[in-house]
Amino acid sequence: MTQWHRHSPFSADHGREWEERWEYSADGNARRSFDVRVRAGKPLDVLKLKGVDLGEVRDYAAFLESTSARLYGAGADIHRLQDCPLCHASLDDAAAELAVFGVPYVRCGRCGHVGVGARPQPEVLDAIFAESETHSSAYVDRSAIETRMTQIIAPKLDWCTEHFQGRNRRQPRSVLDVGAGGGHFLAGAMRRGMAVEGFEKSRASRAFAREAFDLELREDDFLSAGGTPVDLITFWGLLEYVAQPRDFIAAALRRLTFDGMLVVEVPRVDSLGTLVQGMEGAVVARHMDPTTHVNGFTDASLCTALVEEGFIPVAAWYFGMDAYETCVQAALRANDPGLFEVLADFIPVIQQALDRGRQCDDIIIAAVPAR
Ligand SMILES: [Zn+2]
Repeated sequence: MTQWHRHSPFSADHGREWEERWEYSADGNARRSFDVRVRAGKPLDVLKLKGVDLGEVRDYAAFLESTSARLYGAGADIHRLQDCPLCHASLDDAAAELAVFGVPYVRCGRCGHVGVGARPQPEVLDAIFAESETHSSAYVDRSAIETRMTQIIAPKLDWCTEHFQGRNRRQPRSVLDVGAGGGHFLAGAMRRGMAVEGFEKSRASRAFAREAFDLELREDDFLSAGGTPVDLITFWGLLEYVAQPRDFIAAALRRLTFDGMLVVEVPRVDSLGTLVQGMEGAVVARHMDPTTHVNGFTDASLCTALVEEGFIPVAAWYFGMDAYETCVQAALRANDPGLFEVLADFIPVIQQALDRGRQCDDIIIAAVPAR
């Protein structure tokens, strides 16, 4: 009972965005359709990728595995997920999709969402994240700030503002980022003259934002915090961490201006990256990491949640790190950093093909309140 269909042109993607029609039919209700502007691919800096230290990847994976043993191992207080957090279907007959560090992820039969099937209470995962310097370090590398602003933040800001401008004939004046990390995105928005507000649970990341950008991020809970309406709300890599992603989407609807836009980036589970990480002997240091990422999304699971909470999707951007992941796994397996140096040259073209074929491990969706 597939609920989502898409109509896409044969000739999609010759380096440009294109229009698709996405259709949703919930049980017994009339079909709804949405015009979605789609982009595939994002430039990759191969030289930076080549700087990967395989020993560091192995060490970080070992750290995650020991954290995972604490969270899910013998004596841990874990609870089976009863219903899909995205579409609310029962997970009674959900099949195991893959296991990472021995922790099974199960797939919802209705929307395809993949999540850790039995997990600690949300407060336990929150506490691990809030106090972990290691989790934050990936986001708060001081020496890389300007590179990150140019290569990662600017393209995302451009994409958000272009789509906002296209709909509203004006630039967004205010932006709220939940799970703001070291504050890079908000700092980029500030440089463009926007008023900014950010929420971040990690103590180390808040300290970094203060020091690097003179930005005070809020420690309190976005779900219960009030505030004035904002034009743009962004969740960059947030919803994979949370027990109930729909609560965040609903809270975003309450905070947006009537012509506002919500932008959500999540890991895509139906991707080469996931398949490679599900292989025997894989070394998992990102993506399907059960110590933090309890959710792996499908286009259908994310869009179902958005639509059911009162949004309509208007734009999508497909890209990923699958080729990098595959090459890292191959080099680790061969125990040969030289192999990675050779394979790395192929990463941009392999990734381009995966992005265009929607086998990539990341997606950004822009959605606006349904009116
Ligand atoms: Zn579901």
